[in-house]
Amino acid sequence: MKPETICIQGGYQPKNGEPRILPIVQSTTFKYDSSVEMGKLFDLEEAGYFYTRLQNPTNDWVAAKIAQLEGGVAAMLTSSGQAANFYSLFNICSAGDHIVASAAIYGGTFNLLGVTMKKMGIDVTFVDPDDDAKTLDAAFRENTRAMFAETISNPSMVVLDIEKFASVAHRHGVPLIVDNTFATPIHCRPFEFGADIVTHSTTKYMDGHAATVGGAIVDSGNFDWTRYPDKFPGLCTPDDSYHGVTYTERFGKAAYITKATAQIMRDLGSIQSPQNAFLLNLGLETLALRMEKHCSNAMQVAAFLEKDPRVSWVSYPGLPGDKYHALAEKYMPNGTCGVISFGIKGGREAATRFMDSLKLAAIVTHVADARTCVLHPASTTHRQLTDEQLQACKTPADLVRLSVGIEDAEDIIADLDQALAQA
Ligand SMILES: *Cc1c(COP(=O)(O)O)cnc(C)c1O
Repeated sequence: MKPETICIQGGYQPKNGEPRILPIVQSTTFKYDSSVEMGKLFDLEEAGYFYTRLQNPTNDWVAAKIAQLEGGVAAMLTSSGQAANFYSLFNICSAGDHIVASAAIYGGTFNLLGVTMKKMGIDVTFVDPDDDAKTLDAAFRENTRAMFAETISNPSMVVLDIEKFASVAHRHGVPLIVDNTFATPIHCRPFEFGADIVTHSTTKYMDGHAATVGGAIVDSGNFDWTRYPDKFPGLCTPDDSYHGVTYTERFGKAAYITKATAQIMRDLGSIQSPQNAFLLNLGLETLALRMEKHCSNAMQVAAFLEKDPRVSWVSYPGLPGDKYHALAEKYMPNGTCGVISFGIKGGREAATRFMDSLKLAAIVTHVADARTCVLHPASTTHRQLTDEQLQACKTPADLVRLSVGIEDAEDIIADLDQALAQA
């Protein structure tokens, strides 16, 4: 099935006489006739639902649709994109380990890796995603367990050379984990270029209506953990907390995602509510349609900004002159996303006057939903970062992040035009 079809038909498959629309299984728990049966579920000997913190049918159906969209073996929903990224790494890293991550990533993920996971004894080296393979090689250590990056970085709009990152990661015997939030599987399927694990903040385009916070982890099933049993003991040796199950032996290609569910979610518990998963599924049904409109609108808006003398620079990989246009053509030939970053002449103050003068576009801490919105990262999402760090993660202090919605492009441009006149 093509992505457009999976958006509608993927995941939940009603049987004869069952509800046509994805049911919300609003139940913490599930009933069994005997304790023997339930015991088998606890030992992972049989598959079945017993407690929603571990698995819930509504969530699983939506996760299955996302796995199909990405072309993975299985997926798991989480309560937020932050939880998805944390779990994706913590599933294979523990104290004493090390991660190599692109510096051009979402501010929240930059803090998660650089501050919070560091406190847990997991070290990180941030690299410039534009560095050549040799320079990237130098960041790896004996204890490196994963490489991490975003397909299109939020908010710096760097398009990742996925094949370059995947080959470097694999040369060092570790998986490449890619946050595919901005491109979505409609425009980029990172597994086709060698990524091993994909994460999402489903809060963004997947939900698309700014109604629910959520996340997802998708496993390609392609990384052969058993080649590196010393690096990944959690997957390749018995788990005492599950009566000695060895995930790679019992679950094969689904070892990573099963451990993430059975152990990490069981113990840390950041589940998505079935209600939210239902809303996420409604969003997914129109994802392909919306991405097309987001991109065609953003192309028109980016072309307008690029020509405007009041704008100092524009970064949108869809523009033929953009630094990342060639990579975008290779990895996302049908379009990138609706987010544009740009700078306004007159710096911080002009940016503030511009944003305060917008009428249609709202100032919100959000991105990638149906409504056009703007944000000044240096004074909001990235305000914990020093000017040096801002530069390193390619988010200069004058950067305005514009998330182009699916309204009429001419109306959006008219609003930008009148606000630029006030700047
Ligand atoms: C928003 C975002 C996150 C964090 O997701 P939440 O759902 O807000 O927790 C992670 N990565 C990217 C690329 C994002 O845009």
